[in-house]
Amino acid sequence: MAIDRFGRNIHYLRISLTDHCNLRCIYCMPEDQVFRPNAELMQDEEILLFVRLFASLGFDKIRLTGGEPTVRAHVVDLVRGIAQTEGIRTVTMTTNSVLLSKLARPLAEAGLKRVNVSLDTLNPLKFKRLTRWGKLEDVWAGILAAEEAGLTPIKLNAVVVRGYNEDDVVDLARLTLDHAWQVRFIEMMPFAGITDLQTTHVVTAEEIKERIEDSLGDLEIAHGGELDGEARVYRLPNAKGEIGFISSVTQPFCASCTRARLTADGRLRLCLLREKEVDLLTPLRAGASLDELRTLILDGIWNKPWGHGLADGVIPLNRVMNQIGG
Ligand code: SAM
Ligand code: SF4
Repeated sequence: MAIDRFGRNIHYLRISLTDHCNLRCIYCMPEDQVFRPNAELMQDEEILLFVRLFASLGFDKIRLTGGEPTVRAHVVDLVRGIAQTEGIRTVTMTTNSVLLSKLARPLAEAGLKRVNVSLDTLNPLKFKRLTRWGKLEDVWAGILAAEEAGLTPIKLNAVVVRGYNEDDVVDLARLTLDHAWQVRFIEMMPFAGITDLQTTHVVTAEEIKERIEDSLGDLEIAHGGELDGEARVYRLPNAKGEIGFISSVTQPFCASCTRARLTADGRLRLCLLREKEVDLLTPLRAGASLDELRTLILDGIWNKPWGHGLADGVIPLNRVMNQIGG
């Protein structure tokens, strides 16, 4: 078991399969973002070896992310390999869904259980403005294909950016009336690359909730008030789906954090909002034994941070969001 010095049992690993992406969301990366050469990224066998190592330490839940995980070559085979690893109970994915109309079924057949899809607005023009390159219709087709393939319950992630989509939260919330989806609103977090926008255009979860309640009526607390992952979850009366709020900036959920991240270049990132990382790929390539790698992982986990420093102006600047994976 991987336990940290605060007694948290860390058993959920988010793996960034690549930093590359087929969109350029304004809150995630600059338009001219330069991606890492493939040789610097974990290769398929290296990913599978790390998954076996983490599984041997009690990790049972894997989320694949990016960049955009579906642009990674052999993503279906990777999912199959990870899902078949002894000890791994669930493999899920966070995706922009652009390629899901083709990939949802093969991914489900390979063992993927669920997807979280990023969707910040239902307005095609605003969608293009937010993603710089995206077409809303592709994403929508991908969501329907995911539902059809049984990658459910589908969660939709919306990052809310002042001046771009704060008016769109009501339409997104309204989706839950007719769809058994969980629509989650995420407070924008600051990283390198586009820190100015990320710090000045934040819309708090509290404001988003107020906007929804002003238009659609009071939200009822769901799940008995327990967090669902990192989201506080509510429901509109008689809705099929749920509405979640991820308030990482204003109300961090460190006490219930069970996760660690593996960046696409093979660093163990211990907290999304802290720069602390442990390099695993360089030692692996230098011939470290499995026991040495296990020790590196356990020491890193033991020192997993608690709390972010945003209120004190401490912003993690060693990576752009797409290199960490969300
Ligand atoms: N490309 C995939 C996608 O967009 O779903 C997976 C990677 S993306 C980095 C993972 C999640 O991080 C997405 O839900 C995205 O909206 C979110 N995200 C990106 N930049 C963010 C930021 N600055 N603050 C909060 N969430 C962010
Ligand atoms: Fe790509 Fe996801 Fe970042 Fe958007 S949020 S640019 S889809 S990695």
